[in-house]
Amino acid sequence: MDIPASDGALRHIRRYRLAWRLMAHQVRAGMISAMTSFSCHQLATLRRRWGIATNKHLRGRSPISLSRYVRPPRARSEGAVLAAFCRIYGVALPRHLAHAPRKSLLTLELGERLCPTYEAFCACFPQCTLDFEKAVNLIFALAKDELIGLEQCESCGATVLIDRLARRKPVCESCEQERRLRRALSRPSPRRRRDRGADARR
Ligand SMILES: [Zn+2]
Repeated sequence: MDIPASDGALRHIRRYRLAWRLMAHQVRAGMISAMTSFSCHQLATLRRRWGIATNKHLRGRSPISLSRYVRPPRARSEGAVLAAFCRIYGVALPRHLAHAPRKSLLTLELGERLCPTYEAFCACFPQCTLDFEKAVNLIFALAKDELIGLEQCESCGATVLIDRLARRKPVCESCEQERRLRRALSRPSPRRRRDRGADARR
């Protein structure tokens, strides 16, 4: 016999599912609590019941510094790819919501949309350095479009993340590696330097 579930019961089930999924992504209790409305105490109980070990390094507040996203060339490219995934999955925050209180934006609905987006991103880039919380911070920062934004690599035109306050022009990971390689090849080898020194002494 089918028992029709009420909207409240269905929402309750969704909260449990999302909490489980976020714990699997090693998300801190504060963010899970904001998205699922479970208290930190309830989340600790669920962790014990589900046998999910607590990662000691992931206690406390979520880091919100953005500098790490735009400094390394790899992170600049990863951030741009994540932004593309967000557009595909319809997760990009509308600009008019970007300055709303962060807690009011961390909803069950946003969490349910973020999880498949982040999982698809990780499936395509298993070596990615962006964890779930960094990805959320990045999405919020891109919606504000103040400190960081998206621009084109000045060499190849690929989309990259940029620091809007930095003087350096944006370069993607691949072009940065190519530039380093060219610089290394143009530098004389120690043997050539020794030969030049010997020639000068003669
Ligand atoms: Zn490039």
